Amino acid sequence: MGGGTAGWLSALFIKKKYPEHLISIIESSKIGIIGAGEGATPNLKILLEKLEIPEDEFLKNVNGTRKTGIKFIGWNENTEHSFVHGFKQGIEDVNFYSYHFNARMLAEFLKNIAIKRGVEYLDREVFKFEIADDNKIIKILFLGDGSINCDFVIDCTGFSRMIIGNIYKSKWKSYEDQLIVNSAIPFFLNSKNSEINQKTIASAENFGWIWKIPLQDRWGCGYLYNDSLSRDQDIEEEILKKFKKEEIIINKKIKFLAGCFEEVWIENCIAVGLSTGFLEPLEATSIMTAIFQLENLPDDIFDYSKRDHYNYTIEKLNLQNMTFIRHHYNCSRNDSIFWKEYKKKGKNQELNMIYDNIWSNKRNKDLLDIFSIEGKSMSFTIDQYKLIMGNNFAKGNKSFI
Ligand SMILES: Cc1cc2nc3c(=O)[nH]c(=O)nc-3n(C[C@H](O)[C@H](O)[C@H](O)COP(=O)(O)OP(=O)(O)OC[C@H]3O[C@@H](n4cnc5c(N)ncnc54)[C@H](O)[C@@H]3O)c2cc1C
Repeated sequence: MGGGTAGWLSALFIKKKYPEHLISIIESSKIGIIGAGEGATPNLKILLEKLEIPEDEFLKNVNGTRKTGIKFIGWNENTEHSFVHGFKQGIEDVNFYSYHFNARMLAEFLKNIAIKRGVEYLDREVFKFEIADDNKIIKILFLGDGSINCDFVIDCTGFSRMIIGNIYKSKWKSYEDQLIVNSAIPFFLNSKNSEINQKTIASAENFGWIWKIPLQDRWGCGYLYNDSLSRDQDIEEEILKKFKKEEIIINKKIKFLAGCFEEVWIENCIAVGLSTGFLEPLEATSIMTAIFQLENLPDDIFDYSKRDHYNYTIEKLNLQNMTFIRHHYNCSRNDSIFWKEYKKKGKNQELNMIYDNIWSNKRNKDLLDIFSIEGKSMSFTIDQYKLIMGNNFAKGNKSFI
């Protein structure tokens, strides 16, 4: 269910992994997709290769560019300071990259491929589910009339969180005590970009930070902030002031709360994408996690003995991603209410442990556990923590952490 980035990537992946099953996508074009989320991590490139989607076709159809990392600007007290967090253990390497893309064009592009490959497409608004005695969903009912029987559902309903949240009421793990960004005002800058190898720009600002994503025909941007610390109109004014020389299109504000569901697989439903939760856009962990989830689906999707391990793995990945994002905010920038607010926040125990280890230069088993699952490294490494830390303290001042 759902026809955003998560829905179509899931449909294509599942069609390939379980060719014996009939796959349908149900989405409501009336509700639409979020349309944000235009930068990814290298696992998207790997997935597209697996799905046999040629890179040149992809880039052409989504106005895409290659993404070799993120350029951070102004995250310490020297607001001019910048550095690149590249994808190869923190280092930028033009051969190890992901992509920037127009999110709406991506959904359309993936949809056309999926339909050609035999995925059934139903443009319907879902309003109800029929649940069997064993608590599994067996039928999805459409507004107006009509329904479809099902034996397994992937909940890609975005912020509606229709099944994993509303039907199965998975327990919510809030990260608002760690991540204070809760609002975004997306905007576009209409200037052309010719270079194919590019970086996302993440610039620290007065009320939060701005992402700037270079596409072929425009920059996709957004101001991230906390709307109880600053007013929406102040953010809009800041955007207009900062980019006064450019043609700007300001989009509708998006609200979210940092957190994730503890279980993303309940009964015969797995949630993928925003329906599982959301941290914030820094480091583009959302699509990365969606792809990780797909890659980790069991060989037999009806093998429910794999469910607890799957849930444990995804919960841990979310915690790792959250901890790494939180780490960026332990910076020495301290010149406004937003940055000062972060200085008042306590850090989670994983982050404290990582810092203890970095300062004392010792490695212990607990630390390995933070970075991996059963010995397998999952997302960000200690070298990446060090890179961010080394740059986010202009004067090497430890007191901020
Ligand atoms: C401000 C912001 C910036 C972001 N930046 C990044 C980034 O840089 N990198 C990154 O990796 N991620 C980013 N994300 C996350 C990213 O947008 C998502 O991971 C990605 O777009 C996938 O979204 P989705 O498919 O889960 O949801 P959506 O795109 O919202 O799709 C939900 C689908 O469910 C359907 N639906 C909902 N209710 C019903 C119903 N009742 N009946 C039928 N259909 C229904 C909708 O029609 C739609 O098709 C960002 C998110 C936000 C909010």
